[in-house]
Amino acid sequence: MGVIGALLVLQPELVKTAAPPVYVVHISVDGLKPQYLQQLLDAGQAPNFAKLKAEGAWTFNARTDYDWTITLPNHTSMLTGRPVNDKYSTTGTGHRWTTNTTPPAGTTLHGNAGYYVASAFDVAHDNGYSTGLYASKDKFVVYRDSYDATNGALDVTGADNGRNKIDVYVNYDLNSTSMFAAYLTNMNANPTNYTFVHFNDPDTAGHASSWGSTQYLDAVKAVDGKLGQMFAQIAGSALMNGNTTIILSADHGGTGTGHSTQSDPANYVIEMMLWGPNIPANTDLYTLNGGLTTDPGATGRPDYALGSGQPIRNGDGGNCALRRLGLSATIPGSNNINAT
Ligand SMILES: [Zn+2]
Repeated sequence: MGVIGALLVLQPELVKTAAPPVYVVHISVDGLKPQYLQQLLDAGQAPNFAKLKAEGAWTFNARTDYDWTITLPNHTSMLTGRPVNDKYSTTGTGHRWTTNTTPPAGTTLHGNAGYYVASAFDVAHDNGYSTGLYASKDKFVVYRDSYDATNGALDVTGADNGRNKIDVYVNYDLNSTSMFAAYLTNMNANPTNYTFVHFNDPDTAGHASSWGSTQYLDAVKAVDGKLGQMFAQIAGSALMNGNTTIILSADHGGTGTGHSTQSDPANYVIEMMLWGPNIPANTDLYTLNGGLTTDPGATGRPDYALGSGQPIRNGDGGNCALRRLGLSATIPGSNNINAT
């Protein structure tokens, strides 16, 4: 204690730069449909998803956004904690990003919405945590450009950590292998505290060969292999081992070669999985949440509502990540959709 105190007095910059030893890896597996993940689990072909289940809390009956089952709108919900559309009869509650193509450089969520749309990157970064985004679709550039040194909000929380909310941005279009190689290199060298990782593979295979096809299942198995590498990296990291939470969900499921019909359970039923210190093993996430969330049944599709009766949604992930970082703050504008 005395030695550490003296060190900090002699080198006060350490106080400012020492990141808290806590890490959250927030994963999205694009197009991962619970039915097919379960099929692989039953066949013993997804050992790392099995580890995530056996050691963590999970549900295969979570929900996407109510109105949209496509990639960018749902990822924006994961990162901002907002519904896509305005809800609760209140203007300005949604993040309002409804398109799914790669936007022109410089396009921001804020310009589209007409107001600043804060994210988990904002809250983590403003509180002194380092952040990273690893993606495998070009369209994720909208997040880099929304939260860069020009378009990110001023940091008015404690020390000024700047407007650029994403410290490490890596994006390889439709190449999760290169993306994930960069992830492993960077996380071994200097892990970011809040890290969002996006795997495109099941979605890409589903569009090309249909959801549930051999190619689709192989793509899920490939993600499982990368999860294994992720577990090994965490276990081998003096910083991350024992201090890391994994949050895993999907942006949507799919059927045939698509997933755009938002009223189809094949598209809106997804998984939510949590793993990390003090998360009980092999536990149903709805049971763990108690009365905070309500299992909607196999095909239930509750619209957003304030109060009780809400399913667990992929849009809960951002605020869940902040809580697992030890922050009490939620994402500004996230409107109580978080209950995990
Ligand atoms: Zn897709």
